[in-house]
Amino acid sequence: MVTTVLNGKTVSDAMLLSLAQTVRSLHLQTDRDPGLSVVLVGDNPASRVYVEAKKKACAKVGINSFDYRLAPEEGEGALIDLISHLNSDPDVHGILVQLPLPKGFDEQKIIEAINPAKDVDGFHPMNVGRVWQGLAGFKSCTPYGVFELLRYYDISVEGKHVVIIGRSNIVGKPLASILVQRAAGANATVTICHSKSENLHQLTRSADILVAAIGVPGFVTADMVRPGAVVIDVGINRVEDESAKSGYRVVGDVDFASVSAISGAITPVPGGVGPMTIAMLMKNTVESFERDIAEVKE
Ligand code: NAD
Repeated sequence: MVTTVLNGKTVSDAMLLSLAQTVRSLHLQTDRDPGLSVVLVGDNPASRVYVEAKKKACAKVGINSFDYRLAPEEGEGALIDLISHLNSDPDVHGILVQLPLPKGFDEQKIIEAINPAKDVDGFHPMNVGRVWQGLAGFKSCTPYGVFELLRYYDISVEGKHVVIIGRSNIVGKPLASILVQRAAGANATVTICHSKSENLHQLTRSADILVAAIGVPGFVTADMVRPGAVVIDVGINRVEDESAKSGYRVVGDVDFASVSAISGAITPVPGGVGPMTIAMLMKNTVESFERDIAEVKE
């Protein structure tokens, strides 16, 4: 079977271009620009790479990016003070605290300190709850990116069985909350599997669309996939590779070589869900800016 490779980079580039046009036209109307504050605590190398990628995307779209670096020793109090300052800054439309935070920081407390109207990561319980209820709210970027990627390729999930492996608050659960809605582009039957699920292979083989968000390189193998199924690989894992300059390479949770031989469509890693996540962060930030403009006008 010839599989379709779902190119998240192409789709993300198209989205960034369209967002840039929106921002330019809003600038002409209001003389204002959207702003995104990115806060990094400590110097986790993977986090630094993500922060740089987000800054680059901001530049492409015309979003002002404000960079904040804190040392872990400054503590949770300093981070909360910074968030509260950003919450009330009119030039800031999105606040992103790069996760994971160093040991000793209470991530939930930090997420809840962010003004839900600026929570462009979509992690605040207010936004999570609103999305589950089918109300307007920021959708978390990775699941939102999966949703938009499927839409771009006209892969309908309506009435289809979507099986998600992984129940995290940033991927598995919020993806289910988006796809299960009674809404255009959704209406799926969703099963969430996790580390305690029994008969995992039986469940994954019943999927029309299989999503892997586990964090284990090559976890999904061809025998877990129904021939012709759509396979979305959310995993981003670094594995040692002496032949690479960096000493590692990035792989997904799906064994691409074996699965792509039988799937109907599949996302690559890198270049699949990763770029979509960043594009959706930009989309949420522009949406927050639009809401702000509308409020100022009222
Ligand atoms: P997590 O560790 O929070 O969750 C992993 C999930 O996998 C858990 O719910 C666990 O129950 C499940 N799991 C573990 N072992 C299992 C098993 N043997 N059988 C079935 N389920 C099992 O991870 P996460 O934060 O959701 O991230 C998952 C992966 O996605 C990671 O590789 C991460 O780097 C990647 N990720 C990518 C993006 C992106 O932008 N593409 C964003 C977020 C996370």
